[in-house]
Amino acid sequence: MKKQLLTLTGLCFLSIPSFSQKTLIHCGTLIDAVKNEAQSQMTIVVEGKKITAVQKGFSAPSGTDKVIDLKSQTVMPGLTDMHVHLEQETSKGGEIKRYQLNQADIAFDAAKYAKNTLMAGFTSVRDLGGSGVNIALRNAINKGTVIGPRIFTSGRTIATTGGHGDPSNGLADKLTLDGQYLTGVVNGVDECRQAVRQRYKEGSDCIKITATGGVLSIAKSGKAPQFTEEEIRAIVETAKDYGYHVAAHAHGAEGIKRAVRGGVTTIEHGTFLDDEGIELMKKNGTYLVATILAGKTVADSAKVPGYYHPLVVPKALETGPIIQATFGKAYKAGVRIAFGTDSGVSIHGYNAYDFQYMVEAGMPAMEAIKSATIIPAEIMGVQKESGTIEAGKLADIIATDGNPLQDIKMMRKVSFVMKDGVVYK
Ligand SMILES: [Zn+2]
Repeated sequence: MKKQLLTLTGLCFLSIPSFSQKTLIHCGTLIDAVKNEAQSQMTIVVEGKKITAVQKGFSAPSGTDKVIDLKSQTVMPGLTDMHVHLEQETSKGGEIKRYQLNQADIAFDAAKYAKNTLMAGFTSVRDLGGSGVNIALRNAINKGTVIGPRIFTSGRTIATTGGHGDPSNGLADKLTLDGQYLTGVVNGVDECRQAVRQRYKEGSDCIKITATGGVLSIAKSGKAPQFTEEEIRAIVETAKDYGYHVAAHAHGAEGIKRAVRGGVTTIEHGTFLDDEGIELMKKNGTYLVATILAGKTVADSAKVPGYYHPLVVPKALETGPIIQATFGKAYKAGVRIAFGTDSGVSIHGYNAYDFQYMVEAGMPAMEAIKSATIIPAEIMGVQKESGTIEAGKLADIIATDGNPLQDIKMMRKVSFVMKDGVVYK
């Protein structure tokens, strides 16, 4: 048996072409997301899917080596947006789409949004809620069938009855009779545990709950807590069994605190976070994913007559403008921050606007970039594979025209995108 294995190994060794072709990326400026300063005139060596070396100066190619000239650009790890919805995109009166679109329609749209996201420099995203198409989309991208970022998805959101994420909100009674709109709606500890197990069965990578009301649901309150702490704890504990972390959508102060005490890893939005909530988040090491871009987008759109349902408009006008200030306060107080935009609520591909809003609120550009590179990798437990530019990591590499450390708006000028060693832009 041993001999046979050796023979097979020998055959394989002979038949697979040696993958010695290297790509040398000459970087004018390099932000590796490890050091706190940028380096100038560096070379990243890529072989296959991975970075195999990072060298000082512009290394000369040999043999069949390929050179990518980014000498006038700033190079950094591929970005991660920790809060997107790739199945949907905002539009005037868009609430009606859920009655008109079939899963196949959603899938084709999602493929387009995924591509737009990748081209904006986001080589990974965490998708926090959809119909399940987000799971199929992840698989299609991994197979190479569809072009898009690496997706970590929660699959469907978990909500309580009438809560943000209850898909039957605003529907006529007769439409909800067959139960198809009630998927993901839970009440009580047992159903909470069951929902997490169901997500595992469906192929989710993490769990998303809606711990308070939300802006865009057809419901009155955007703030009220919608889970008990006991229910949240049951979800977090069950999620741990499957190696999942839990993301909690939360605007109101009480719901935020219940989620943090219940053990969630990230608070999404965090709009009405109070001082006690800030202290709790610091104590527990909970991350804030502020989604400032979403706040600004909904506040603007709510001023357009007919853009949103009448129940949504006052919530959008109240909530939207507060998020950036809350973010600034939480950051300055020492709350851990991860980058996330809630894109889908805004147009996909404009994700990088949030860097500007974070810097405006007081976060240094380098920290903002780390919040979208190494920090997300740590939260998702893939920091050994991605999140920085170092030998051994996946070749997820982007470049911007101009230096975002001098002008953060340059994060919107992404001119080069490589994912898994493949150049997409
Ligand atoms: Zn969201």
